[in-house]
Amino acid sequence: MPERVSVAIIGGGPAGLTAAIYLARAGIGCAVFEPAVPGGMVFMVHQIENYPGFPEGITGRELAEKIEAQAKRFGVEISQTGVKKVHKADHEFLLELESGNQINARAVIVATGCKPKKLGIKGEEELFGRGVSYCATCDGNFYRGQDVAVIGGGDSALQEALYLSQICRTVYVVHRRKELRAKKILEDRCKEKVNLKLELNVNIHSIIGEDEVRGLQVADKESGEKRVIAVSGIFFYVGMDPVTDMVRGLVKLDDAGFIEAGEDTKTSMPGIFAAGDVRSKPAKQVASAVADGCNASFAIEEYFLEQR
Ligand code: NAP
Repeated sequence: MPERVSVAIIGGGPAGLTAAIYLARAGIGCAVFEPAVPGGMVFMVHQIENYPGFPEGITGRELAEKIEAQAKRFGVEISQTGVKKVHKADHEFLLELESGNQINARAVIVATGCKPKKLGIKGEEELFGRGVSYCATCDGNFYRGQDVAVIGGGDSALQEALYLSQICRTVYVVHRRKELRAKKILEDRCKEKVNLKLELNVNIHSIIGEDEVRGLQVADKESGEKRVIAVSGIFFYVGMDPVTDMVRGLVKLDDAGFIEAGEDTKTSMPGIFAAGDVRSKPAKQVASAVADGCNASFAIEEYFLEQR
């Protein structure tokens, strides 16, 4: 017989854990399913400066650990398994876990966030772990004193390039357009760094290297001229893909694959709620993920009242 829980929370990032804290304090039983470390993508961010309450900033790892400790203080159980599939079962949901077990839940919060997008260039897959990385905080130290490239022009790329500029000799930010997408404060900081160079308006062709990364081949968009930027590490920050496989076909997704839900976190399927970066919304921020987690807990209380 499958086990039973009132609310199954899929994903242990800021959105999922905030929902768990609110539900636990309201006396509603919940279980969080997180196959990786609690904290989600936040764990991989070097420094967070725009989350209120930490005037000096806080490392992503420390913030993740604090949120986890807070959830555990209220007795929240975090199960280290992923969820393969969610099925509708009468008035409930049946969750197939990656561990092989099953669990029934009256309501589900999908707070699975996103995973880094792949660019799909030659060498990216072959040299993953041998110079290719998607996490500067995790792997930056391997390239201490060396030259590295960061691909992308968004907030993630610039934020992590700034981190790498503290430990690497030269950091090249390689971006396909003339203008950066990132916030101005990050762009200004990058321009102040003498060892951070912006390589703008280039097409990114391929990675050079047999057993390890030796360089990045790019071509100037205007002249078409090809050249190799000699680096031993390449960090990809070309956006995020939402993690929604377990609810595909059950809830409506937008064109980019994010779950359609308003700020009340209600999806097209009553009883399933979407919180955090996996929800279709403009601001992908820790602050808005936390807000979503809180809103999901309120929406669930309302949903349970309606079901009585
Ligand atoms: P993003 O904002 O989607 O930026 C992705 C970058 O990769 C863009 O510059 C994009 O170029 C480039 N790119 C995408 N596909 C590409 C391709 N095929 N070839 C070459 N370049 C490509 O992703 P993100 O930086 O990971 O940010 C995701 C969300 O998290 C955003 O909402 C962001 O604001 C938020 N975030 C916030 C903070 C913060 O507040 N400190 C930190 C990190 C992330 P184009 O610009 O040409 O499209």
